[in-house]
Parts: sequence; C-alpha cells; structure tokens
Amino acid sequence: MNNMPANQTMFTKNRFFMLLLLILAALSAMPFGRPMSGAQEQGNIKDYNVILLTIDALRADHLGCYGYKRNTSPNIDKFAANGVLFENTVAQIPKTGPSVSSIMTSQYMQSAGVYRNGEKLSRKKKTIAERLFDRSYFTAAFLTNANLIYGSGHEQGFVLFNNYHTAPAEKVLEGAVDWLEGNRFKKFFLWIHLLDPHGPYTPPKKYRSMFVDDPFYNGTKTAATEYKTGSGNNSEYILGAIPKYQLINGINKVDYYIAQYDSEIFYMDEALRSLFETIENLGLQKNSIIIIGADHGESMGEHDYYFEHGMFVYQGNVNIPLIIKYPGGPQGKRIPQIVQNIDIVPTLLDVLGINEREKWWKKIFSRQDRIEGKSLMPLIKGETREENFAVSETPYEYDDHKSVMVQKGSWKFIMNSDKTDELYNLAEDPDEKNNQAEKHPELVKELRGHIRGIPKAAKRKGPEENIQFGEKEKEELKALGYLQ
Ligand SMILES: [Zn+2]
Repeated sequence: MNNMPANQTMFTKNRFFMLLLLILAALSAMPFGRPMSGAQEQGNIKDYNVILLTIDALRADHLGCYGYKRNTSPNIDKFAANGVLFENTVAQIPKTGPSVSSIMTSQYMQSAGVYRNGEKLSRKKKTIAERLFDRSYFTAAFLTNANLIYGSGHEQGFVLFNNYHTAPAEKVLEGAVDWLEGNRFKKFFLWIHLLDPHGPYTPPKKYRSMFVDDPFYNGTKTAATEYKTGSGNNSEYILGAIPKYQLINGINKVDYYIAQYDSEIFYMDEALRSLFETIENLGLQKNSIIIIGADHGESMGEHDYYFEHGMFVYQGNVNIPLIIKYPGGPQGKRIPQIVQNIDIVPTLLDVLGINEREKWWKKIFSRQDRIEGKSLMPLIKGETREENFAVSETPYEYDDHKSVMVQKGSWKFIMNSDKTDELYNLAEDPDEKNNQAEKHPELVKELRGHIRGIPKAAKRKGPEENIQFGEKEKEELKALGYLQ
C-alpha cells in the first residue's frame, strides 16, 4: 500500500510534528478568554467580600420592587432601591438541585450535568466557592433544603458548610449574622439559601391571616383536592389540583394559598432585616458585593399548574428576581434586558476584577470549568451586549414531559416533548395564553435554532451520581413534595 520511500515518510512525519508543535506554541501564547473589563486588563483585583443570597421558589412578580400589588417585601425593596435590579432574569431550570448547580458553576444544565433533584454535582465541576477559595477567600454556607446537603456536591469549595434543612429564615439568618460578626475582618464569600417561600406555605402563625380577605383576595376561585394516581416522581400531582403536600386543612380556595405564599415572603423579608442591618452596622456594604436571587419561581395556578415548580417553563416558574449591589455601583438602576442565572458568577468575577483565563489545553480537552454565562457589567454600565436571549428547560424528572424554552426580546418559544410548539409575545401577553406558533413559522424556526442540540426527549440517563440521603432528609424531601 505504501509506495513512499522510507526517508520521505519520515520527512512527512517530521513535518507533521513540527507543524503540531508550532500550532501548540501559538495556542499557548494566545490570550484565551476575552478580558471582561478594563479593570481586569490592568490586573486591578478588588478585595471585596461576596454575599450571595438565593431564595427558594421565589417568583419575581410577588416582590414589591417587581411591581407586586401587595406589600410583601419592604426590606428587599429598600435593598433594591440602593442597587441594580434586573427586571427579566431567567432561571436555567425550575428545580432546586439542577438550578443551583447552574448558578454556582455558570453552566447550563446540559453542561453542569445535574439533570434532576437528588443528583450530585460532580467534583470535576468548578463552583464559585472553589474559584474564590483558590483566591484566599474564607468560604461559608448557611443553607436550607435537603437537596443542598453536605454530599450534594455543593459543599465543594466551602470551609464552613451548614445546612439547616427546613428551618425558617430567622434561624438560618441568626447563624449567618453571628458568623458575619465574628468574621468581618476576613475576606469572605458567604452563601445563604432560604426556603420560606417553598411549599408547604406555613409561615409563623401571626402572619397567616395578613393577606387573607385583603382587597386583593378573591375567595371564590377553587381548585381540585382529589388525586388520580399518576406515574413518575409526581404521582400525587395532577394538573388542576392542589398538590397533596401543599394542602392546608383541606382548603380548596386558590387565593388562600396565594395569600400564604405571600405571607411566607413577608415573614422572610422581615427576617432579612437583621442581615441587612448587620451588614450596615459592620460597615460591610463598603467592601462587599451583595447579590439577591432565586433558584426558580412557583406556579400560582397559571396553565392549571398549582403551587408547584419544575414541570413547565412558564413565567411563574422561571422568571425570578436578581438584584446586585456593590461598592460604587449604581443605585436604584433597573435593567430591562433579558439576563440569566448563569450570568451571576461571571458578573461577580468581573466586579472583583478576576479574569479567569482558561488554559488552552483545558479549553480543548475539558469543559468542566467553562463559564457559560456572561458578565452583566456592560448592561450595568449602560452598554449593549450581544447576548439578548435566555434558555431554560425542565429537569429530567417527569416520565412523560419535557419542555425547553428560549426567550429573545419579548418573544418566548417553548418546545415540548409531545412535539407541540408554543410562541408567546410577553409584551402583550404576559400570562402566556395566546399561542402564536402557527402564525409565525419563521420566528419559530429562528428561535428553535437557539435550542438545537438540547435533547427533546425525557428520561435522560446521565452519568449522574446520586446524593445519599439519610432517613431524616428523606422525610424532609417528602414534606417539600419531592418524594412520595
Ligand atoms: Zn428550589
């Protein structure tokens, strides 16, 4: 077969290796990873602390600062008035485990590799805690939710890792505030995750009637409280019914549950005052970046989906708050452009002046620590940015249902596993009632292009490793509606 003289073959091989060496040398000299701001190019690293507060199941439109009709969040509103509020933030997955994994790694679900609750975030992934720990930050977590226990993979990078399980905000914040007082002189990363708005909606007794029978309360609308046996993880649940774990004294009034959800937010907001005051009293606002966000929202009965999250990518499930405050940053600024939860980490790094340039060989051979979000600093500075779309998808948790959505401008396209398409113009139709997919085939085609490559079918079997839950945690997960 090979008619080439031996020396010529050798020459060809040598030339090939020379060429390869030259390419490698050129690659290693290349500055991969675009600098994120002028500050970084000058290596101007800021020694700011980082405080990240994520709130479970908090939809944006039930907060005062997002225009809600009830006064649910006076303290968060005050915080927002001194910071930057993003009006349209999309959670990448409407379920805790996968969503928090996306936030902490800045990767979409398909990259972060946590496809459903109960799966472990891989050790190979690089979380913001690890990135900051590597830069001498003292890292501490005060969390709730059994999906984020030690052993879930979220402990990586933390020196101190506390999970308060289903404890109310007061308890968790008491721990965090104590810790802040003792560690204020360290350069730290503090992560707090609160669970109060998550079902069942059981705020402390004195808050339970505050919104019942108020001017916004309508006691006539009801939902079913009887259940068929379904399949998969959520057999207790059917469309049109209040999930079993949410039922309070058999009540079937929809607005009663909405009032309780709002009371949970109000209670949590009141508890947050102690955190905000501590930050102020210790002078930490002068040298800390503070971020308030959420892992996903909660459906309040839209599309017949009651008091749950995860199964759909409608607005109530994926449209969440995001408020950022940092030293010298704008006060009371509101940004209407679409942004995503995966943008939090690159924004933090940008404000800190940390430019994490990936090594060329890592970029080629491993994508484990790739940052997929984009810094929000250009938007904060009033510049435009190319990324004007957001992607969200349901976890692989439902045997017969999977949805993927892309939002671009005011258009939102949803692709479902039953092969149906949905297209909504959120500017005119925020409740997603008027499906215009058939009317705009070209737009559907264009938006579908953004989500090509994300699998449509449910039942993905990933290379996942599961979290080992103890009996206590299994009971907690049942109470939160995660397990049967
Ligand atoms: Zn959650």
